[in-house]
Amino acid sequence: MKKIIISACALILLGGCIAKEEQNPNITYDVHFENAEHHEAQISLTLEDLLPGPVTVSMSRTSPGRYALHEFAKNVYDVTAVNGQGDTLDIDRPDLHNWTVSNHDGTLTFNYTLYGRHADGTYTGINEQHAHLNMPATFAFVRSLPNAPITVNFHPPEKASWKVATQLEETEDRYTFTAPNYYYFLDSPTELSNFMMSEWDAPQDTTGQKIQLAVHHNGTREQVDRYTDMAKKVVAEQVAVYGEPADFDYDTYTFIADYLPYVFGDGMEHRNSTILTSRRSLEGDNALRNLYTLSHEFFHSWNVERLRPKTLEPFNFMGANVSDALWFAEGFTSYYDDLTIRRTGLISNKKYASDWAGTLNYVLNSPGNTYYSPIEMSMQAPFVDAATSVDAQNKANTFISYYPWGAVIGLGLDLTLRSEFEDVSLDDYMRAVWKKYGKTEKPYTIEDLQQTLAEVTDSSKFAKTFFDQHVRDGKQVDLAPLLAKAGFVLQKAHPGEAVLSFGAGINYEENTATISENTKVGSPLYKAGLDVNDVIHSLGGEDIQNARDMNRLLASHEPGEELSVTYSSLGQEYEAAVTLDEDPELELLTYEQAGKELTAEQKTFRESWLGSKAK
Ligand SMILES: [Zn+2]
Repeated sequence: MKKIIISACALILLGGCIAKEEQNPNITYDVHFENAEHHEAQISLTLEDLLPGPVTVSMSRTSPGRYALHEFAKNVYDVTAVNGQGDTLDIDRPDLHNWTVSNHDGTLTFNYTLYGRHADGTYTGINEQHAHLNMPATFAFVRSLPNAPITVNFHPPEKASWKVATQLEETEDRYTFTAPNYYYFLDSPTELSNFMMSEWDAPQDTTGQKIQLAVHHNGTREQVDRYTDMAKKVVAEQVAVYGEPADFDYDTYTFIADYLPYVFGDGMEHRNSTILTSRRSLEGDNALRNLYTLSHEFFHSWNVERLRPKTLEPFNFMGANVSDALWFAEGFTSYYDDLTIRRTGLISNKKYASDWAGTLNYVLNSPGNTYYSPIEMSMQAPFVDAATSVDAQNKANTFISYYPWGAVIGLGLDLTLRSEFEDVSLDDYMRAVWKKYGKTEKPYTIEDLQQTLAEVTDSSKFAKTFFDQHVRDGKQVDLAPLLAKAGFVLQKAHPGEAVLSFGAGINYEENTATISENTKVGSPLYKAGLDVNDVIHSLGGEDIQNARDMNRLLASHEPGEELSVTYSSLGQEYEAAVTLDEDPELELLTYEQAGKELTAEQKTFRESWLGSKAK
């Protein structure tokens, strides 16, 4: 199909204007898996009805939902190109990610071998059991043809009885699928395997939308059925937050889960599907542990997939993607992933509180907020989101992940709204943001988020103060009094106990105490001048050889006491004075755990926050 678009100026016959042609040739992929046991796929990309001129074929450098660079071209080899007659064409390699093919005759077939042995949300894994394809890691594409429709034909190994799970549009052939353009195609991970499938109607939906759960695992149908029941509950709680499911393309949302010993743990959201990978099976408690990722990714079908930060539009396949809004896009999604599981009743208030304790310790006891605000922390994503590097970094001090930090902001905002405003909660805010920017798919800015908060609370002063303090600056919300309203106690876990470092950070092996990570800014060790890889010999005149020595010594001293420390650093021996500090570790308990009585008011507050909303 060739579409000619004549530019407006040509139509009005202005001299000097040149008619612009936009070509939309047919693009067809054929994917063979004859060498699956050696983790290879043979892929050909055929372009027909091409206009004359060289064609550049590219491998993506990143993947939708990921922010760092992954350089997928590294697993592509045996590249050849032929024209419609089968004649070999010259290929030029302008850089590592692009292949430029000249002299085609209107038809061009680009062939290559792809190696994939890392099944997760970013990469591809091919073996005798499955082909788990993340599309940017698998398919070369033509960037100059953004609107050309795509057809893909999968050719599974002869002996395999593979089915296909994908958000691509089905055709009459069970192994042939289509996409309207490469943007959608590259966002559509595909699993070919002998998976087990569940399907149910989307809740609160009148348009016949379906939810599918495809599970490739070594377990039983009964395990999948039990997991499906859990998934249904959490999906229903999330739909209740927004009041409706998202409008899925082709009326279907598909969870593509690989719970197998040879995959790498991950979860990756896409427009109408998600990849869930874990080495945990669905046996016993593992099912619930896997559910957290399922919950997180489904929440993205609203927040991120349709409710999109302007900074991520359009997605850049050839460079890192930097966004100022991941504290909201990922962080608020993290807030809701376990909140909606709590609302299903699958976990208790006690479990919910203990899950939070880990997050609160990580976020509230980090000095990271003195370096970057949540907005700036979001922009660090290309350095941390499945990014690899070999040089040392100071992330222990300067970085707080925008996932838990954003979740803590979500918690603070939710409890503040519930405390200070009549009948307003974060659910109302999410629904309002969804209506304005998600349903309409109008990408938002931070100012838009603030403005919507002003509308929901009818207070632009509140919205401005909250955003200024907690989003633009890194000030933490004072959570203890807010959590108390719901009958939870946030307090120091070990009041009056002395520590040397914040967090673990000391490795006891072969009768030596070695500092194993960057000392935290503000901690006793940091202030005394000790850092990673230093070996502590004695403290307060006593030898320290193991954790027991250290704990006994610390237990016999008070926070604020000054002790001498001897240590070696870079092969030299040192002595310094160290002032002990109080253990900053926090715990979050229910009033019941703390032996306190819940008031009727607290019960009501808690129920309206953590109780089921599903219809
Ligand atoms: Zn996420």
